[in-house]
Order: sequence, then C-alpha cells, then structure tokens
Amino acid sequence: MTTPAPGLPSVDQTVLDHAPAAIWMMDGAGQLEFANRHFCEYLGIAQTRLLAAPRYTELMPSAMGAAWLQADRECQAQAAPHMSMEWMPLADGRQHLLELTRQRLLNPDGSVRGIIGLATDVTERSEYRQRLEHMAHYDLLTGVPNRVLLADRLAQALARAKRERGLTAVCHIDLDNFKPVIDAYGYGAGDRVLLEITRRIKDAVREDDTVARLGGDEFIVLLVGLQVTEECVGSLHRLLQGIQQPVALDGEMLCITASIGVALYPDDEQDAETLLRHASQAMHLAKEAGRNRYHLFDPASDLRARSHHRLLQQIRHGLAHGEFELYYQPKVKLHSRRLVGAEALIRWNHPQLGFLPPGEFLRAVENTELEIELGDWVVATAIDQLRQWRQQGFDTEVSINISAYHLESPGFVTKLKDRAIALGSVDELRRLQIEVLETAALDDFARIGALIRDCRALGVSFALDDFGTGYSSIAYLSKLDVDTLKIDQSFVRDMQDDKSDHAIVQGIIALARAFGMGIVAEGVATEGHLQALLQMGCEVGQGHGIGHPMPAAQLPGWQMAAPRA
Ligand code: C2E
Ligand code: MG
Ligand code: MG
Repeated sequence: MTTPAPGLPSVDQTVLDHAPAAIWMMDGAGQLEFANRHFCEYLGIAQTRLLAAPRYTELMPSAMGAAWLQADRECQAQAAPHMSMEWMPLADGRQHLLELTRQRLLNPDGSVRGIIGLATDVTERSEYRQRLEHMAHYDLLTGVPNRVLLADRLAQALARAKRERGLTAVCHIDLDNFKPVIDAYGYGAGDRVLLEITRRIKDAVREDDTVARLGGDEFIVLLVGLQVTEECVGSLHRLLQGIQQPVALDGEMLCITASIGVALYPDDEQDAETLLRHASQAMHLAKEAGRNRYHLFDPASDLRARSHHRLLQQIRHGLAHGEFELYYQPKVKLHSRRLVGAEALIRWNHPQLGFLPPGEFLRAVENTELEIELGDWVVATAIDQLRQWRQQGFDTEVSINISAYHLESPGFVTKLKDRAIALGSVDELRRLQIEVLETAALDDFARIGALIRDCRALGVSFALDDFGTGYSSIAYLSKLDVDTLKIDQSFVRDMQDDKSDHAIVQGIIALARAFGMGIVAEGVATEGHLQALLQMGCEVGQGHGIGHPMPAAQLPGWQMAAPRA
C-alpha cells in the first residue's frame, strides 16, 4: 500500500493498515481518496479498484451500497459525528454487525470537502453479549426460561390477566421420584430425563404459556389467557398425563410422576412473589396427598391457617406475660355440702378480647408443643396454689385437666416431680388429681397404665373426665386403674326428664362401685339434681348449682349456699 492518506499527511499508511478497523476517506462527490487494508478486505475489493471508481458505493452489494450512501448523505448534512450500527454482508459472504462512525470534513470556505469514516466489526462482541444475555435468562440444560426471565413473564402475565379480566395459573411442578433416578443412573442420565420431561411439559401447554425451570427437578408453568378454572384443570391433566408416560433410559423404562401446586390469579389476588409461594405450598399439599396429582391453593383455608397461626402466637405471648389464670370450681360432698376439693379450670385474661373460657382457645393448641407448655404451666400453678393454701391453713384437693397429648409427651412424670421439688411442694402432689378425658385414654393402655402407676407413686391420683361420652367405657375401665369417674354433665342435666340419661347415670355409679372407684357428678345445676344424685348413691358433685368456678383467692372462704326452702 503506497497511497498516502490525503488529509492525513503525517500518518503512515501502514499504521492505518494495522488499525483494527476499516478506515476510509471520500471526497464530496463520493469518490474514495483513501482506504486502509481492512476496508478493502471487508469489501473484498482491491484497493486500486476502489480508489478508481467514481462512486465507491456502486461497487458494494446493492442493499449495502444504498444504506452506505444514505449514511454518507446524513453525515454530510450534520456537524456532529454520524454514528450507526448496521448488519452488512461482507466479503466472507456472512452478515456482520458494523459499528460505523463518520465525520464530515470541511473546506476553509465551509463547503463539505468529504468524509472520513471508521468501521469496526462488532459481530463477535454482540454475539458474545447475546450469549451472556441468554445465559442470564435461560436455563443452561433445558433452554427454557430461568428464574430471572420467569419473573418478567409472570409480571407480564399478571398485567395481561388484569387487562383482559382473565385468569393466570402459576403452576409449581416438582417431580416425585427424580432423586432415585440420579442415585441409580447418575447425573448424565438425570439430565437426559429432565430434557425429555421439559419437552413433554412444553408439549402439554400452549405457545403463549411459559415453561421455566427453577433448577433441580422443579419447574414453573404459567398458563395465561384463561377464562375459567376448568381450562386450567384441562392443562393440569395434560401435564400430569404427559409427564407420567414411561421414559426410556439405557434400555429401561422409567416411571416419573409429578406433583403440581397451583395458585390461580386473581382468585388468589396476590403479588407475583406471593403467588409463587402459594403455588409451592400447594405443591407440598399435592405431595402429602399422595403425589402424581395437582392441588389448587385455597385462599380461604390459607386465611384460616394464618388466623390459627396468629392465635397460637397470641397464646404464646399471653403465657409469657401472665395472661392466663386458673379458676377453681368447688366439689362438695353432696350429703353434707362440705367442700372436698376443687377443679382447676383455665381462663385467659386477653388484653383485647377480655375474659376467655378454654373453649375459645384450647382447640387451637391441640396436639402442639404449645399444648404441653400450657399444660406445664397449669401443673406448676396448681401445685404452687396448693402450697400457698396450705401455708394459709387451707387444706384441700385440686384436680387439673391434662390432655392425652401432654400426658403421653416424653418426660411428663419427671417434669411433674421436678416441678414439685423446685416449688418445694412434693407433699402437695398428694392433693393433686389429674383428670383425663375418657376418649383420650383409649390410645395406648399399656403406656397410660404405666404412667398412672408412676404418678401414683408420687401421690397423684387420676380421674376419668366426662365419663360416658367416649366409647367402650367398660372394656377399658378394668385396664385403666383410675381412682375416680366424673359423670359427664350432659347426662346429669337431663337425667330427671330423660329415662335413658337417668339409667346411664345410675349405670356409671354402679360401675364405679363395682371397680371400687370414687364418683363425681359434673354439672350439678339445681337442688333437684343434687337430691336425685344423692338418692342414686353419688357422693360428690360439682356444678353451677353448687358453686361457679372462681379466682383462687375466693375458694378458702367459700361455702355452699344453703338450699332454698
Ligand atoms: P371439664 O373438665 O369437664 O370441666 C367442666 C366444665 O363444665 C367447665 O367448663 C365448667 O365451668 C363447666 N361447668 C361446671 N358446672 C357447670 C354447670 O352446672 N353447668 C354447665 N353447663 N357447665 C358447668 P370450662 O371451664 O369452660 O372448661 C371446659 C373444658 O375445658 C373442661 O371441661 C376441660 O375439658 C377443658 N379445660 C379447662 N381447663 C383446662 C386446663 O387447664 N387444661 C386442659 N387441658 N383442659 C382444660
Ligand atoms: Mg375436668
Ligand atoms: Mg368434665
């Protein structure tokens, strides 16, 4: 290359030839005055030919020439550098992305003298960027959108559902038995299975829908443009069907199934993140229900679950802040009307809701750790109360209600004993009775029997509460060596009018006698009840007709009112 660069007299041609860009210069009429090596190579035209042509753009492929000419014209018309990006066919026959910068050159009189231009081939850079972008948005293995792109698609889907007043289903798919496949066949085989499953998922849904992979064997499918729930159900069945077809692997047929959790917008009117969480919760319910099925997230039952959760939190808080209190309901010898003991009944002084009976909150803690904590509090409070009363010279017995779950929880007896020792009240255990619900004791006779014996060794006695309301009462009376039966108040209430209730009360009293147990009638609400029970041979009673449950401080001074004349 010998042509000096006109207008660039001090720059050696070879320097420009080695620049990693195409450089050219033209005059105002469109004839090239200079072209470096890259420029000629891009076009695949010899430099001499290029420089000899009156209009170099006419040597280019026609579409390229037209675009080039257009850009030259625009550049000549503006003072600022002209920048553009163009896909152009180059000498290798492929399309290249060129980044072009042109600057017009002026004569001293201000007329346009020509253009100097620079073109860089950025094809590779842009392909690389695209690859990076693809990697950032698509799952490497399956090529479907990843979590990042899913977020985008979900936002679009929700906007569309809003606009069209349609439905969007967010489906969380988790394969049921994928891990054993990897364990048995290795990761490579696992990948092949995932590819096949991805294909089937894509086949089961529509073009508009999104299939995304979260990683592992978890996918999210967005079903869009739905009008009614049934449409979604159809797709779910197709998904389950498609996935559960046997997959061929190393000459074997594998059976893979999936559990799908679905959150349906706007039935579940939540933001994207919450919908994804709900779909995942529902997926776990589908697993629990036996796998290879779908479960629709139910906003109403979720609300119930959450208010249940809130109640538990409040109870925990209340327990820590002394909001619970034991009330004591007197038990009397029916013939003398003298106090023989009291049943401790839990109450909640709720800061907002007021004074709550156990029916309002005990159900919530059933079979939870909190039930045990609450029960432990009852045990400790009752033992301490007995100790305080004795110090005041008031000697009585107290029965506490203990749930079967608590009773059967590990270490119950040890805790009871330790509690009594810690409170310095081991003697108090002789005045303590544990009431167990009849039905509750049914589970495991051997265990409960052993428990009763261990507690009795500490001096604690046992009563079966609400007797007669459970089942097979007589059968297990012989197995459970309890001290007392408490006749349920429902029989006592109606026994004077209802012959069968009367017979039941009589039967229970006879039963207690036969087994050598004490008997307490609950729900003694009237003088009539009291007299009838006395006649039947029941010795002890408890009920509103005798005395209501009351704060601990009132019990020592309490006396049963004399019967009205
Ligand atoms: P329960 O052990 O059978 O206690 C007797 C219930 O009958 C008490 O209700 C008492 O207030 C009520 N009652 C007493 N006399 C009469 C009457 O003449 N008529 C009527 N209609 N009712 C009467 P409360 O205190 O609401 O307790 C309900 C149940 O809650 C108890 O039944 C017991 O199963 C449970 N409970 C109470 N306190 C505790 C506790 O500290 N721990 C546990 N696990 N359960 C408890
Ligand atoms: Mg009771
Ligand atoms: Mg009862």
